[in-house]
Amino acid sequence: MTPPNIHYSALLMTAGIACLIVVIMIWYTHQAATGARPLIVFLLALSWWDITYAIFWADIPGPTPYFWLDSTLLGAFIVPTAFLLFTLEYAQFQKLLKRPIILSLLIEPVITFILLWTDPWHNLYFGGKRALNTVRTLDVGPVAWANIYYSYILIFISIIVLCITLYGSIGIYRKQTSTILAAAIIPWMVHISFILNGGPLPDADITPFIFTVTALTIAFALMRFHFLDIVPIARSVLIENMSQGVIVLDRQKRVVDINPAAQKLIGVSAQSCIGQPVGFLFQKWPDVIKKFRGINQTHAEVILDNTHFDVHISPLLDHRNQNVGRLIVWHDITDLKQIQTKFEKLAVTDMLTQIFNRRHLLDLAEMELKRAARTKSPLSLALIDIDHFKNINDKFGHPAGDQALITFAKICCENIREMDLFARFGGEEFALLMPETNCEQAYQVCERLCRIIAQSIIELDKHSASITISLGLTEMESEQDTLELILRRADQALYDAKQSGRNRVISWHTSLEI
Ligand code: GH3
Ligand code: MG
Ligand code: MG
Repeated sequence: MTPPNIHYSALLMTAGIACLIVVIMIWYTHQAATGARPLIVFLLALSWWDITYAIFWADIPGPTPYFWLDSTLLGAFIVPTAFLLFTLEYAQFQKLLKRPIILSLLIEPVITFILLWTDPWHNLYFGGKRALNTVRTLDVGPVAWANIYYSYILIFISIIVLCITLYGSIGIYRKQTSTILAAAIIPWMVHISFILNGGPLPDADITPFIFTVTALTIAFALMRFHFLDIVPIARSVLIENMSQGVIVLDRQKRVVDINPAAQKLIGVSAQSCIGQPVGFLFQKWPDVIKKFRGINQTHAEVILDNTHFDVHISPLLDHRNQNVGRLIVWHDITDLKQIQTKFEKLAVTDMLTQIFNRRHLLDLAEMELKRAARTKSPLSLALIDIDHFKNINDKFGHPAGDQALITFAKICCENIREMDLFARFGGEEFALLMPETNCEQAYQVCERLCRIIAQSIIELDKHSASITISLGLTEMESEQDTLELILRRADQALYDAKQSGRNRVISWHTSLEI
């Protein structure tokens, strides 16, 4: 069979046009999908191969006798490379999709194409074996054979890549990968059986058909399963609906995307700020601009108009690990902050009197002790115990006792110095830590407090009462003094105050040592 064969030509033309139509469909509906770009190149190369081969079979004369037949080979050279790039992108083998690898994959088709068109001068492609009027060139030169082997190797690698992907994929992705793998293998098996048993069209190369079937099946799977674009759609829906604010900046710090939550907080519309510098968005909050200027990656807290935000800034890297912009994500943590503050307060506060609790005073005392040792400054501590407090409970009842403790704590807080730390140590026992205060100064503070309490009238529910306190005072005497030792001394002094008649301050002295 020799050209013209109008039926075969029409068939090829249909296949070529089908490829072009699918290219247009992908371009308009699935352009952003993973694998879409190499698939478009794959389809365009096939379309070229089909259409030029159709022209050849229509016997339309070209500028040279083999012009159309040789033109078909441009498509044939590109197809395996494009197919491999498609499988690599589909399998998300980002590491292999680096520019040097892509460029090196283009070397072979370009060189082969040049050698094909310059064949009359060196005979490397056809090996001088092409006779006029051949439609299929089975016996060819070294370059053509090299190209054939190379193409089969690329297709073989692509199939391996798809097998690896199939092995690791689950659910819908497994179905999708199986479809692509079937599209890559089945037409080839049919092709081999044609070679072995003789195809329907002797002398006609059905390879472009085989590839067309493969490409169209993949494209069909692309649109049928939406497999290449589910992820970007899901992501954009998620970002649009999430309560966190999201801003995407390009390398020049211009806004390229902003979600509704971010628009609401800043009070801008997407249309008005896309393309604007990020400083424009945050012009109401110059401190924020200053804080994050030039920062590519951070996690920080920011307060804007009394609202607390947790801000994450992350660099955006492309598949070549190059910085292409920044992602800013924040969420409102005001409620969380309020709860956190409440818990922090609860952890350090005595529930009844609302002053510091024992645990917190001990922590503060440890810190103050270290600071005093470091700065060589004095530090005093008094333990305070209400005298005969049991009587209050017995006389007026436990709730009245509670009220007395609350009022007592309030009076103390009003009459101590701002620098002093006052805490409930337990029951009707309290502690007063006096930084930067030596024993003499502390004694005066305690004496004054003792007097004020003795003179105060404590209002209870239906009654009023007066109370007195005993105080045991000590000071940090050397840098080696531990908190435990200081507490023990204060306790001994307090015991002495009780023993010697109550309603008084006793400073610790060595004779109290037991
Ligand atoms: P002293 O002068 O020796 O310290 O006599 P006191 O009665 O104060 O001491 P004692 O240790 O015998 O009694 C302490 C009393 O304090 C007994 C206890 O019921 C009372 N108390 C301790 N914690 C609370 C409290 O949270 N509320 C009330 N209402 N009473 C308390
Ligand atoms: Mg007591
Ligand atoms: Mg007591």
